[in-house]
Amino acid sequence: MTEEKKDQGAAGQGGQGGEGGRKGQGRPKVPRQSMPEQAPLVRAKNFDEVTLGYTEEQALLEASRCLQCKKPFCTTGCPVGIDIKSFIGLIQSKDYLSALAKIKESSLLPAVCGRVCPQEMQCEKVCILSKKGDSVAIGRLERFVADFQAKHGGGRIPKAEAPTGKKIAIVGAGPSGLTAAFDLTVMGHKVTIFEALHKAGGVLVYGIPEFRLPKAIVEREVKVLEQMGVEIKLNYVIGKIKTIDQLMSEDGFDAVYICNGAGLPWFMGIPGENLNGVYSANEFLTRSNLMKAFRFPEFDTPIKRFKNVAVVGGGNVAMDAVRTALRLGADNAYIVYRRSKDELPARKEEVEHAMHEGVQFKLLTAPVKVLGNEQGWVKGLECIEMELGDPDDSGRRRPVPKPGSEFTLEVDAVVVSIGTSSNPLLFQTTPGLGQTKRGYIEVESEQTCRTTKKGVFAGGDIVTGSATVILAMGAGRSAAKGIDEYLKTGEWWSKGAL
Ligand SMILES: Cc1cc2nc3c(=O)[nH]c(=O)nc-3n(C[C@H](O)[C@H](O)[C@H](O)COP(=O)(O)OP(=O)(O)OC[C@H]3O[C@@H](n4cnc5c(N)ncnc54)[C@H](O)[C@@H]3O)c2cc1C
Repeated sequence: MTEEKKDQGAAGQGGQGGEGGRKGQGRPKVPRQSMPEQAPLVRAKNFDEVTLGYTEEQALLEASRCLQCKKPFCTTGCPVGIDIKSFIGLIQSKDYLSALAKIKESSLLPAVCGRVCPQEMQCEKVCILSKKGDSVAIGRLERFVADFQAKHGGGRIPKAEAPTGKKIAIVGAGPSGLTAAFDLTVMGHKVTIFEALHKAGGVLVYGIPEFRLPKAIVEREVKVLEQMGVEIKLNYVIGKIKTIDQLMSEDGFDAVYICNGAGLPWFMGIPGENLNGVYSANEFLTRSNLMKAFRFPEFDTPIKRFKNVAVVGGGNVAMDAVRTALRLGADNAYIVYRRSKDELPARKEEVEHAMHEGVQFKLLTAPVKVLGNEQGWVKGLECIEMELGDPDDSGRRRPVPKPGSEFTLEVDAVVVSIGTSSNPLLFQTTPGLGQTKRGYIEVESEQTCRTTKKGVFAGGDIVTGSATVILAMGAGRSAAKGIDEYLKTGEWWSKGAL
């Protein structure tokens, strides 16, 4: 029997301990441990974290379900290749700090990724137990060890190599920039991050709400970087205050890593979109999360409290916006999505949470026109019902309008959450920076992160388009390697070297 078959065999034994114990040696079957969370109707009225994390007892039970496969598929399902089998093995031995250290070999932000990674599409999807529909809860275990250290202490500030004398500028303090800064600092380089907003963290602070990712977690990670010697210049828009060329020629930076995300919102292009009460999801979420409008008057950014809110879109961003609208006091918060539930791109958990909290899903529905009152404020959203036709280029069935099915949703706000793209500022101010057809920064490859401009690297959403936290972090790690190699060899790829 091959090793792979043996693992599958163990998983398939069921009852007599196949799933619950290693090697299926008569241990009782342990079900996947659910995570405690605030009751739906309670949490829909507050901004506290929804999920509460495993207790130690639950974490140990959940870890005991891991079969410690000889060929662990879970690691191949992780975009940054975390040694999942080893970290869960360390939890089984109650060595939580070593488990955390094992994750940190590949991922800088386990407390973040344990909360927001789409594990069901990645590591957990290929877990051998997923064949039975209940994979090991890898993300929850990742979160457990990170939270354990935050609560009990015991971590240490990583030591950097001897200073190399090289200076690196990083544009953007999102997950990609923070990861690159960490790795480059450990390599001995001097790193300065330039961040346009007044807080570091990128989408982790301005986009993802407190109830899904408490900001104290991001602040903790940023503080570690500062303790390691990373300088973070806030309220500093590259392309306005200084250009990339100035950073290199005037300020003496030896290399630049651009990871400024893809935060420019798309709109629908339908009549009425410029009425008062129409927001992009990014603006709506930034006002609430970053400017803490939900805590007005303690924070001085007010946000209008709408009674009936329609959020157009079906991704994670749309779920965050609609759940925020509910928490801000909306009586009716709708998701308007043109395909069916099966095609919703948001994480399954986020969709379920939204449904339990009372969000109303208008599926197979597309907006046609935003309706306004005489004062120019939104008073409704005209929609049309859709049905699914043949698959389109994305492989998903194309939504087709049903003639004569128009109807009006009475709402006083519309939040548009149909995607984002790159901000043109850096292309306009950086001669020689290549752009792809889709409008993102052109790179030699996502492994080297070299742009068409010598000494300038790019990664994260600004290269891939809107993606995930873990992919952005992976890009930061690749960029750090690429930059270190460039600083040692001075080599560049043939297309660039401008
Ligand atoms: C609301 C929302 C919810 C999401 N939910 C999830 C989720 O559940 N799971 C998941 O995996 N992913 C999620 N994502 C996607 C994920 O957050 C992104 O893929 C990831 O943050 C990209 O990281 P990044 O570092 O490339 O860019 P960002 O996080 O966008 O950070 C870029 C930073 O660059 C700064 N910047 C921009 N221009 C300049 C400039 N000219 N000068 C200086 N600084 C600049 C920005 O202010 C920002 O701080 C979500 C995204 C959003 C918007």
